Amino acid sequence: MDKIVYDYLITASAYDWSHHMSLDEFRREPLLFGPSPIHPLPRLSQALGGQVEIWAKREDCNSGIAFGGNKVRKLEYLAAEALDTGCDTLVSIGGIQSNHTRQVTGVARYLGLEAVTVQEGWVDYNDMNYDRVGNIQLTRIMGGDIRIDPAGFDIGIRDSWKQALDSVIAAGGKPYPIPAGASDHPLGGLGFANWAVEVETQEAQLDVFFDNIIVCTVTGSSHAGMIAGFALSDRPGRRIIGIDASATLEQTVEQVTRIATNTAEKVELGRSLRDNEITVVPGYEGPAYGVPDATTVEAIHLAARTDAMLTDPVYEGKSMAGLIGMIRSGEISAGSKVLYCHLGGQPALPAYAGFPGLGSPERELSN
Ligand SMILES: *Cc1c(COP(=O)(O)O)cnc(C)c1O
Repeated sequence: MDKIVYDYLITASAYDWSHHMSLDEFRREPLLFGPSPIHPLPRLSQALGGQVEIWAKREDCNSGIAFGGNKVRKLEYLAAEALDTGCDTLVSIGGIQSNHTRQVTGVARYLGLEAVTVQEGWVDYNDMNYDRVGNIQLTRIMGGDIRIDPAGFDIGIRDSWKQALDSVIAAGGKPYPIPAGASDHPLGGLGFANWAVEVETQEAQLDVFFDNIIVCTVTGSSHAGMIAGFALSDRPGRRIIGIDASATLEQTVEQVTRIATNTAEKVELGRSLRDNEITVVPGYEGPAYGVPDATTVEAIHLAARTDAMLTDPVYEGKSMAGLIGMIRSGEISAGSKVLYCHLGGQPALPAYAGFPGLGSPERELSN
């Protein structure tokens, strides 16, 4: 577990960590509209040969809090503990265009709490107004206390974050630490473990079985949580495929494995995870975290121009590229029913308006 989380949180946790509990026993502060919608993507399916049925589950419209997204779902569990332990300030960390820190600030506002977010130069990309529009703009509009730090990309822990926590205490507040992406945290995997249970209920209602689940993975707890959640029922023939968008594959695989293992233990899975339950696919990450390439842009265009489903150049455009690539290569085979987990992230799009194909008129590019 994250050392800073440990130091600040574990001694004051709402839970007795000496025994495990079932998923239902963890308190969840309701932050979502309810189950997120699942629907088919018929035109995208057709454009990719019509042999694979593609559906999407939409965390990008899961909540009315600041455009929602996967972090709001994870925060249902962390926010409950923050409230139950009398914390008054959520403290977290991310890049300049972090979706996560926008959602942390939104959740804090929704619950009447304060938020401090350390925002770092994770992305080696310079667009006009990159530090003004999109997520950081929304965070500023919500009155977030943003601390800009020039450090580079790292999904691990940070001194700047510890300083932010210390500053809340020095001012007489009680901070609740939330690591990058709300991932490396005792409760980080629970939101998407619960997502998996939610999918199984929706499958029964829709009379469908998704044999492949596609999800973007970076700080890892969305993917890891679903691995643990789906392991509870362990239905044969289901693959959970994480598409790497971190471009630091080894660290991401390690973190997904660790969080999936810890989450499985917490929700009383009662067995070890098998190696084949943890699949992280590289090849779609582009040149670096936060930097798209032509494959990312092609994927963004295809989903947008078929079923009008918008994806971003940092995360979902890359997992969409993975879905498209794996169907074209036959790694996802004819007859398959795929569930694409859309984790949100469209608010970053304005920060990439200068990237070829993402805002400048294409007509002019080819002149
Ligand atoms: C954070 C984020 C991800 C990655 O999820 P992790 O749980 O950090 O792996 C993917 N897509 C979007 C839109 C995100 O904001």
